[in-house]
Amino acid sequence: KNRNKGEKEFLNAVKEVLYSLVPVVEKNPEYIKANILGRITEPERLISFSVPWVDDKGQVQVNRGFRVQFNSAIGPYKGGLRFHPSVNQSIIKFLGFEQTFKNSLTGLPIGGAKGGSDFDPKGKSDHEIMRFCQSFMAELQKHIGADLDIPAGDIGVSGREIGYLYGYYKKLTNIQTQGVLTGKGLAYGGSLGRTQATGYGLIYFLEEMLQDHNESIQEKTIIVSGSGNVAIYAMEKATQLGAKVIACSDSNGYIVDENGIQLDVVKKIKEVKRGRIKEYLDYVPAAKYVEGCKGIWTTKCDIALPCATQGEIDTQSAQTLVDNGVIAVAEGANMPSSLEAIDLFQKNNILFGPAKAANAGGVATSALEMSQNSMRLSWSFEEVDEKLKGIMKNIYATAKNTAEEYIVSDNLVMGANIAGFVKVADAMLAQGIA
Ligand code: NDP
Repeated sequence: KNRNKGEKEFLNAVKEVLYSLVPVVEKNPEYIKANILGRITEPERLISFSVPWVDDKGQVQVNRGFRVQFNSAIGPYKGGLRFHPSVNQSIIKFLGFEQTFKNSLTGLPIGGAKGGSDFDPKGKSDHEIMRFCQSFMAELQKHIGADLDIPAGDIGVSGREIGYLYGYYKKLTNIQTQGVLTGKGLAYGGSLGRTQATGYGLIYFLEEMLQDHNESIQEKTIIVSGSGNVAIYAMEKATQLGAKVIACSDSNGYIVDENGIQLDVVKKIKEVKRGRIKEYLDYVPAAKYVEGCKGIWTTKCDIALPCATQGEIDTQSAQTLVDNGVIAVAEGANMPSSLEAIDLFQKNNILFGPAKAANAGGVATSALEMSQNSMRLSWSFEEVDEKLKGIMKNIYATAKNTAEEYIVSDNLVMGANIAGFVKVADAMLAQGIA
């Protein structure tokens, strides 16, 4: 605690994981002897750097950049980059820590990392975004590589930013390694299905969880928070499978459309115009817009999918969802529910899919992009989607079976934490004190 003073998000993430690991360390004292818990909570490398850039008025700006290379026991560092004003060391460390377990759970050979900057892309011109990305990459390129550390997108970093980052990486290094970044455009090494992967994967996970409890997604009413990459493709797949999504949001407010959200309108506003969700009313005047994003959880629904950011669901929101009869909650965002909110869901027998299992489809598909880059081949959308489905099914089964093995319950939070941990811990034991 002293070493990580003030790092609230990181300490919360560590607390949740360590609590889950009690049964596993009790059974395996060698983890204690080798101080695996102390070592796994300490990033292998933490890089912080300044990112100076020039805005359109000619004014020099400066932001702070980060890359945390958390754990490489099972493979090269892998994790997204986040550009958002809230980014700080605690948030990057919590995300990198979670990523280590998530990547392990996918069953693929990737270690954990995360990075980003407190740069706010909102309201910036394309040229400003490009100049920022180039300055960011000028430092980042010293620390990454296709066999070392492979960044991807996250909040505020989509195909446009990855394109600028990749272009400048090539310019600086003169290395034509497509596998150094994932989330690339299709024309230069991107994978079909990557854009959809986190959202689709979340719904595949949700389907597994529902089916296992004799429920189905069909005709269920769903609320999705956010309207970015994860939210849009979660809404798309849920709708394709016969559910009705009635609400989504951005950081300013939320919309409710009882007839079902028209996804083509949301895509036009968010992916093409980069506008605000309240513009939905310009296309669908019968819908409702409410200022402030937190109130979205007061809308009655069967299933809630938080897909915006950390800390979205506190105890009060969780209680409202429970009172309104929610049957399942699956996390598209990272750590959107507080520890108390998760506890409340579990005490009320709400099916709960934790982020590190439910949203692992994005990084898993990024790893598939790396495989295609290495082979210099491109798989079809159907092939990638089929692999994603298999991976999500497997993650659900692993989390569930592990929970049953260690704690005789179907607590997926503990199951996912333990399963993710054991693979990394065993690899660390095997590799000695390095
Ligand atoms: P995007 O930037 O595409 O979208 C983020 C959405 O969340 C936007 O609608 C944004 O609204 C909203 N949002 C962001 N910050 C806040 C905030 N502080 N309060 C309220 N709303 C907010 O990001 P992604 O969809 O890629 O990521 C969403 C979540 O999913 C994150 O937690 C991310 O870590 C996680 N995730 C993403 C993966 C991916 O493949 N993209 C993979 C695994 C997890 P606004 O536009 O107003 O800012």
